[in-house]
Amino acid sequence: MINKLKKEILKLSLNHKPIFNQEDHKKYTTDWRGQFHGETLGVLKPCNKIEVSNILKFANKFNLGVIPQGGNTSLCGGATPIKGQNSIILSTEKLDKIRTIDKNSKSLTVESGVILSDIHDYVEKLELFFPLNLGAKGSCMIGGNLSTNAGGINVLKYGTTRELCIGIEVVLPDGRILNLLSNLKKDNTGYDLKNIFIGAEGTLGIITAATLKLFPIPKIKLTAFAEAKTIKNAIELLSIFQNEIPNGIEAFELMPKTFWEVASNNIENITIPFDSIPEMGVLIEISSTSEDDAKINSNGSTNLYDKLEKLLSYSFEKKIIADAIICKNSSESHQLWDIRERAAESEKKELEKCGAIKCLKHDVSLPLCNIEKFHNETQNMLKKEVPNSRTIYFGHLGDGNLHYNVFGDGGLPDGFKNKSAEITEKIYEIVIKNNGSFSAEHGIGQLRKKSLKLHKNSVAYNLMKDIKNQFDPNNIMNPGKIFN
Ligand SMILES: Cc1cc2nc3c(=O)[nH]c(=O)nc-3n(C[C@H](O)[C@H](O)[C@H](O)COP(=O)(O)OP(=O)(O)OC[C@H]3O[C@@H](n4cnc5c(N)ncnc54)[C@H](O)[C@@H]3O)c2cc1C
Repeated sequence: MINKLKKEILKLSLNHKPIFNQEDHKKYTTDWRGQFHGETLGVLKPCNKIEVSNILKFANKFNLGVIPQGGNTSLCGGATPIKGQNSIILSTEKLDKIRTIDKNSKSLTVESGVILSDIHDYVEKLELFFPLNLGAKGSCMIGGNLSTNAGGINVLKYGTTRELCIGIEVVLPDGRILNLLSNLKKDNTGYDLKNIFIGAEGTLGIITAATLKLFPIPKIKLTAFAEAKTIKNAIELLSIFQNEIPNGIEAFELMPKTFWEVASNNIENITIPFDSIPEMGVLIEISSTSEDDAKINSNGSTNLYDKLEKLLSYSFEKKIIADAIICKNSSESHQLWDIRERAAESEKKELEKCGAIKCLKHDVSLPLCNIEKFHNETQNMLKKEVPNSRTIYFGHLGDGNLHYNVFGDGGLPDGFKNKSAEITEKIYEIVIKNNGSFSAEHGIGQLRKKSLKLHKNSVAYNLMKDIKNQFDPNNIMNPGKIFN
């Protein structure tokens, strides 16, 4: 049967040869964290939407699972096939063309396999800016970003990927091509179909292209790092900035002591901004597109710099922060951002070094007013359940989004005396009790599908399943992701 399927795949006459050699599959069948390992019949790399359409028609005919894969940086096993399933990986690597740019409407249409940092570089040359930014930007692809509705560090000002997308082109599971590419700001012609595919994690079709919103490059950007003593103080600082520079905060990231401990163990030649590791570090980026804010003033500084200094001094006087620095140049700013963006990588190395079997990764969001309560309640629970555990947390505080990761006490078989699933569920219960979400930006994938069933409103869960059935009655698209 397998050989027959391979022969049929070859009949599709794709421009790029399918990969059938199992040794060459490893890169595609293991996830970024090395936690999920799958298998596939072959890796197919279509180079246009017609080839995608032919693949999906073929998969439907032979009832073959199709695993869409972009940069394979999913942190929840979303792009990894499941062992024992008859499936192919559809890699979007060769869908890598920039189609059109419209400088007047500030929009860009690209194919889904374009790497995020390539979009940044391309538009920067045209003095434009695409704000989606995350640690995986050098390998993740825009189709993957759309399919996960990726967040990242600039959500506070520009929104998630969903808000940065104006139009989309999708190949449906039966091979039909749905063209919703558009750069219209207004289009009230019925249901918003575009948004059903954004965040669908490849379970409803293959995104082949998208039209994205661009912005003018800010005239000035400043980075500061402050030390607050508590989460409450960090939130007070955010509030001061939001009141005083409402449209200017690009990022507001929490980097507490445990984050710095892991970073300094795993990043060579790291520079810590203060003499000792900060208790509750906050990395802030502000910007302005106004010439007035950017030009050198009579103090030999800029208006935006003066404003930032004033806000930090005020926060210091009010004892909201204990210390702060403002980066003098882009190199100082890059150093700090590099440390933040390497958070997932540092944690992965820490896990290997300390020999822990598992790190329980949680990506939660909470109303700002409940973050400290969530943290305290969770720490109390962990002290009782896993006394020697270690929590490494950090995240996009401006969005109420924490990456809240727990290293176990080493108790076999899972490093948590076989209680890891239970611990995660206890954490999610605390999140939900505090009106939060157990999946803020990384999605459901394989990792959180049980929790989705447990915690999603049951009417919403069943509607989602109905939608899946309507679009993909043979369940060929990314089977075993989101739903069982
Ligand atoms: C170091 C690091 C830092 C990260 N930081 C962040 C962060 O700050 N914020 C954040 O949100 N995420 C973050 N992530 C997670 C990840 O990078 C994002 O989820 C990203 O959007 C995935 O893009 P990708 O191209 O790698 O997609 P993949 O991992 O290949 O796929 C992700 C999902 O999308 C589906 N998919 C991929 N392409 C398509 C397509 N064209 N059509 C339909 N479905 C498709 C896949 O089947 C899968 O379900 C980080 C990951 C790493 C490794």
